[in-house]
This record gives sequence, C-alpha cells and structure tokens, in this order.
Amino acid sequence: MTTTARPGLDVARLRAEFPILATTMRGQPLVYLDNAATSQKPRQVIEAVRRYYTTQNANVHRGVYALSEQATAAYEGVREKARAFVNARAAHEIIFVRGTTEAVNLVASSWGRTNLRAGDEILVSAMEHHSNIVPWQMVCDAMGASLRVIPMNQRGELVLEEFERLLQGPVKLVAVAHISNSLGTINPVAELARLAHARGVLVLVDGAQGAPHVPVDVQALGADFYTVSGHKMYGPTGIGLLYGRQELLDTMPPYQGGGDMIKSVTFARTTFADPPARFEAGTPHIAGSISLGAAIDYLHGLDREAIEAHEQDLLEYATASLAEIPGVRFVGTAARKAAVVSFVLEGVHAHDVGTIVDQDGVAIRTGHHCAQPVMDFFGVPATARASFACYNTREEVDVLVAAVHKVRKVFA
Ligand code: PMP
Repeated sequence: MTTTARPGLDVARLRAEFPILATTMRGQPLVYLDNAATSQKPRQVIEAVRRYYTTQNANVHRGVYALSEQATAAYEGVREKARAFVNARAAHEIIFVRGTTEAVNLVASSWGRTNLRAGDEILVSAMEHHSNIVPWQMVCDAMGASLRVIPMNQRGELVLEEFERLLQGPVKLVAVAHISNSLGTINPVAELARLAHARGVLVLVDGAQGAPHVPVDVQALGADFYTVSGHKMYGPTGIGLLYGRQELLDTMPPYQGGGDMIKSVTFARTTFADPPARFEAGTPHIAGSISLGAAIDYLHGLDREAIEAHEQDLLEYATASLAEIPGVRFVGTAARKAAVVSFVLEGVHAHDVGTIVDQDGVAIRTGHHCAQPVMDFFGVPATARASFACYNTREEVDVLVAAVHKVRKVFA
C-alpha cells in the first residue's frame, strides 16, 4: 500500500512495525479504522509479551529468588515509566488496573463511598462513555447522591456557562472525558478543572481516548484522577493505569481485599499497605504491565507532533471525502476534534454500512459506541464510526469512501 503523509513522517515504515496491517480480510488488504475501540500492536509490544513469558515469568513482590526479583523490578520499572508518561509527581500515584472501566469503578467505589453524602452531586458530561456514567450512578444510588449532566451543543461541545452554573450546586466531583470516543470532541479539561477547583470540586479525567492521541500532563491539566486503557495506546488488553493525587489516594480505603495489599492480617483485624499496593490486590497482570511499558516506549519513540498533525490531516481528509457522498450526515462537529468521524447515511442503518464496507476489508465500528445518551441527544439509533491511529493513510480513507459509495448504491 502506498502511503501519503505529512512531510517528516514515514508512515510506510511505521506500518511495517504492525504485523496485522500486512494481513488481508475477505481477500482484501485489511483497512483498520476502529482504533477508538482498540488499536493494533507494534512488534515491540508483541515481543515484550513473548519475552516476558519466555524469560521473565515469576510472581512479583513475593520471591527472594532472582527471577522473582527481576520480574518485580520490571513491573515496578513500568510504574516509573507510567509516572513520566502522565507527568505524575511520584510513581506511587500510579495504580495498575484493567483499564479505564476498572479505574473509574475503583474511584467511584473507594473515594465515592467514603466521601459522598446524601444530597451531594457528581457531574458527568453529556458525551461520556457508559464506563464514566454507570459506576457514578451506582455509587450515587448507594449514597443518596445525585448525578447531574453537563450539557453539550449540537456540535458536540460542552456548554461552559452551564457547567459553571451546575458547579454552584453541592458538587463533589466532576468526571469528564479528555476526548469523546463517539464524537471525537477534545474537551477543555484544564479549563474545566480550573473552574471546578475554584469551588473545591475534584476532577476525574477519563483518558481512554486522550492518552493515545495527545501528550498527557496530569499536573498541567489539573486532573485529580486520570485513567488510561493500555489497549487503546498500542499496548495489550487487560491493563491500564489510574493516576491519583497522593493526598487523595492516602485517604482512600481499599477497593478489593486480598494478597499483596496488606500490612498485617489477623482474624481480628487487617491493616492495609500504602498506595499503590493498597489498590492492587492479588497477582497483577504482570505480562500486561511490562508490555504496556513497551507501548509507552513505543509512543516515546514517535514524533508525537508529527503524528498529531498526521491524524488531523486524516480527520480533515476523511471528513471532506465523506461529505461528498449524498446522504452522509456527521455526528460530532466540534471545533477541536481528534481523528474520529461518526456519521449516519440517510435511509441506511449503521450496521448495514459496517457490514457492507467489511466486504472490502474495511473495519469500522457501528452502534452506540457505549454512549447511548449521545445517540439519544442526536436522535439517531447508531452511527458508523471511523477512528484513526498513527499508521492510517489517506489511501485507506479512499477505500472507506469508495465502500460507502457502494453502500449507497445497494440501498438506492
Ligand atoms: N472511556 C472512553 C472514552 C472509551 O473510549 C472507552 C473504551 N471504548 C472506555 C472509557 C472504556 O475503556 P475500557 O473498555 O478500556 O475499560
């Protein structure tokens, strides 16, 4: 496949690092445009998994023997890499979790059950993924607190004046996506955090879509909590990060009990380890953490500015090309967007769009994208969504666009 890209970025070389991109699907070259669901993995991440199980496998924090010490050093080494990746102050502010879903559940459960009282409010935005709605709903129900929603406009941008108005209520925490998975909107998180902190309100940022696409600085953003899903940033599934400000983590009780999270246990009483161990009960996903470290190294090795420019180019190109197809309507047209293009084709269900373009080897997501309130807001049952990563090309956009033209002909 030829690769047109911004000057300075060798996309062909980049693609060669991802073995799956050289495969075919239904007899056609795979055109993978579902990166918001999960990204593909470069060789160095795949190799890190293989290397771990071939040469490093032992449980961590337990053995006095060399292999276990080496596994522990590798595992804890990634915590430091993760600290630098999000610019946390200390490595013990990083907790390994399964992904954003577990990270939000951890905070909602541990912080929420300790700090929420009847009458308190949690604010989420109108564009949140279910994983940043449902855990808050659950804890609000348990504690007699209420969930309030920061509205968005028809472009899919948060209405800041409404946010400021909502902040005047008995709000304890704001939970908001860095980047929306269904609309692509990049939220003004630093500004939201500034306004929230001015009223003593904490901020959790769902970084599932942020970490893969923009550099993350939790201090500059003013995030009290920040969540990362490894599998969306070229890492493995089943591993992610929760950043939490130390003063908050220190006051939070454990979320799960078990091995490796205690100071001492008797049948009468257990005392808990300090963070992060307090929040990592049981044998962790050691292979996952170590290969997440490889994904962080991979991202560090990229020219992030050139990648951002390349992804913006794909966004503009895809938007302009799809706009030429009669009956295409975009859902999510914010001024600041990441490379996510959600659209509907008049008279055709999104699932049919997805199924037909798949015949040409094109993988896009169709459905509600775990954001049913977003679909309700825009009055559509589902959208088709193309979402891009560093290795995608304009030629792949052309394949998608040609395939959507075919869909129209089928339904004409
Ligand atoms: N938030 C957003 C914005 C997401 O895109 C996703 C994944 N689609 C999640 C949360 C949930 O992440 P995970 O499934 O990795 O826990």
